[in-house]
Amino acid sequence: MPLTYASLEETFGQLRLQQFPVLAHASLRAFGHVEGGAETLLSALLPNVAALMMPTHTYNTMLTPRIGPPNNGITYGQQQDLNKMAEFYHPHLPADRMMGILPEALRQRPEALRSMHPIQSFAGVNVKRALAAQTLQDPLAPIRLLAESEGRILLLGVDHTANTTIHLAEKLAGRRQFTRWALTPEGVVQTEGFPGCSAGFQALAPDVEAFTQRTKIGEAEVLVIPMRPLIETVYKRLKRNPKDLLCSNPNCERCNEVRNL
Ligand SMILES: [Zn+2]
Repeated sequence: MPLTYASLEETFGQLRLQQFPVLAHASLRAFGHVEGGAETLLSALLPNVAALMMPTHTYNTMLTPRIGPPNNGITYGQQQDLNKMAEFYHPHLPADRMMGILPEALRQRPEALRSMHPIQSFAGVNVKRALAAQTLQDPLAPIRLLAESEGRILLLGVDHTANTTIHLAEKLAGRRQFTRWALTPEGVVQTEGFPGCSAGFQALAPDVEAFTQRTKIGEAEVLVIPMRPLIETVYKRLKRNPKDLLCSNPNCERCNEVRNL
């Protein structure tokens, strides 16, 4: 049975998110067959949340310079072929496909706005103030504003490796953040606060289970997690063990920077 607008709308209503701003991360494919695809899912979700934001990051604008600051989780002078393929950031540059097709579908809705960060933009509906808070020095500010408004994380068929709010907690706990560069029509722009690697984040799951609301929609597992206790949980874990939640890939440059501090 394909999922329809009516069935999705009813199920999203049961999540009781009508009072909360929501940061969603999603895999449409995880749901199985959704009649009308991304548009249907968003149309069913939007009336059931106070606000909706998703990451519309554009990694294809990134450049690797020949030299730069040390301990930056990057090999300078490499990636010259990728540099040649880098695209200029512009406000209508599609969201990276790595985040699934839903963020791009959200960005294209007439009522949606997008922030101006050339790598780590967010888009959403009813999140004007959060989007406006983002700067080249503070790319995660939109998440902080949602957290301050009792924001909820919605994981739609994805796990904690997609949970960007964990990056905010890392930053608050003092974990190393990185410098990156993006191609824009105004030239190459330097950005700060690029987060570490998220491949090890699923290890957090048991610690946040107590305040995670779980349900199944179609074939997808759907998780609702309040931002504040999640941020507090990550913060405490990293204060106890600054090398916690790193990935196991021995060649991961960002995780190795954190490990070698
Ligand atoms: Zn890693």
